Amino acid sequence: MKEWMKNVRNVTPYVAGEQPADKNIIKLNTNENPYPPAPAVRELLSGFDTDILRKYPDPDIKDLCAELAAYHGLSSDRVFCGVGSDDVISVAFLTFFAGKKKVLFPDVTYAFYPVWAQLYGIPYEEIPLKEDFRIDAADYRRENGGIIIPNPNAPTSILEGIEFVEDILKHNPSSMVMIDEAYIDFGGKSVLPLLEKYDNLLVIRTFSKSRSMAGMRIGYCMGCKEAIAAMNSIKASINSYTLSQIAISAGVLSVKDDAYFKEQCGRIVKTRDEALKTLAGLGFTGPESAANFVFVKHESLPGDYIFEELKKRRIFVRHWNKPRIADYLRITIGSDEEMKRLYEALNDIIQSERK
Ligand SMILES: *Cc1c(COP(=O)(O)O)cnc(C)c1O
Repeated sequence: MKEWMKNVRNVTPYVAGEQPADKNIIKLNTNENPYPPAPAVRELLSGFDTDILRKYPDPDIKDLCAELAAYHGLSSDRVFCGVGSDDVISVAFLTFFAGKKKVLFPDVTYAFYPVWAQLYGIPYEEIPLKEDFRIDAADYRRENGGIIIPNPNAPTSILEGIEFVEDILKHNPSSMVMIDEAYIDFGGKSVLPLLEKYDNLLVIRTFSKSRSMAGMRIGYCMGCKEAIAAMNSIKASINSYTLSQIAISAGVLSVKDDAYFKEQCGRIVKTRDEALKTLAGLGFTGPESAANFVFVKHESLPGDYIFEELKKRRIFVRHWNKPRIADYLRITIGSDEEMKRLYEALNDIIQSERK
C-alpha cells in the first residue's frame, strides 16, 4: 500500500444503470423519457450563442428559481436548484442531517441515500417495507435525525397518499422530512400543498424523468425560506456555480411549455397502464405503478434469468441481486414501439423456456 493511500476516503459508490455506447439497443434501465424535451429547448440549443460560455453563470440561478416558483405558486426564495436532484439531495443531506440521531428511510428505496449517509458520516437506519412493499407511516414514529422517502417509491413504483406524508410530518416536528417526488408527474398527487402547514417539509423534483432532460442535469427542491437559505449557504461553501447558463435557460423554457409537458406525461401514463396489463398476460405480476416504470416478477422464471435473456436480445432493464427483490425487474416505460419489442422478446423468452 502506498503511503498516501492511507489518507484516501473510503466509499462504496452508488452504481448507476448501464449507459451502453451501442445506440442500437432498447434502453429501459434508467427511467429516461423516450420523448424529446420541449421544442423550445431544442431551438435554444441549436442556435445557442456561445459567447455566453465566457462568463460564469448566475450563481443564484434566479431565472429558473423564479420560473419554478411561479409555476408552483411559491415565492422564489422557497426554491433551490441543483445539478440534477442527486445534487439537490446531497446538499440537503449535508444541510439538514447534521445531528447525531439516525436518519430514516425505507430498506427498499433509491440506493443513493445510504451512499450519501456513509459519505457524510450520517447515522441511518433502513426501515423494512411491509410484505406488499408498502411503507407504513407508523414505522416512522420513533426518534430520528431526519427522514427521506421517495413518493412514488423507487423501485417499487408505489404511491402513498398525502395523508401518509402528513402523518409522518405530524409525528416528527423536530425532523426535516424530505419527500423525493422524482416520479410524481406520472399521475401522482404532490404533497406540495403541505408546505403551507409544515416548515419541516422539503419536496424534491427533477427534470430528468418527466421533462426528458436527464442529460441536462437539473433538479430542485421546495421548502420554507429558512430551509432554502440554509441549503444555499452549504452550496456556496462547495461550489457557487452549479448549473450552467445553458441549463438555466433550457430549464426555464421547459417549464414555460406546460401543454407539451402534460401531453408527454400523459402518453407515458397511458403506455404504462397498458404495459401492466400486457405483462400480466405474459405471467408477470407487480404493484400498480404511479411512475414511468413498472416493477414486476414472473410466475415461473427468475429475475436474473429474464434480465440476461433480454440483454442478449439487446433490451436493457434493471435488476438487483438483493434480498426480497431479486425476482423483480424494473422496466422503464419506453415508446409504444419499444414496448412492443419488449413484449415480443419476453414472449420469445417464455416460449423457449417451455420447449
Ligand atoms: C432518478 C432519481 C433521482 C435523481 O435524478 P437526477 O437525474 O439526479 O435528477 C433522485 N431520486 C429518485 C428516487 C430517482 O429515481
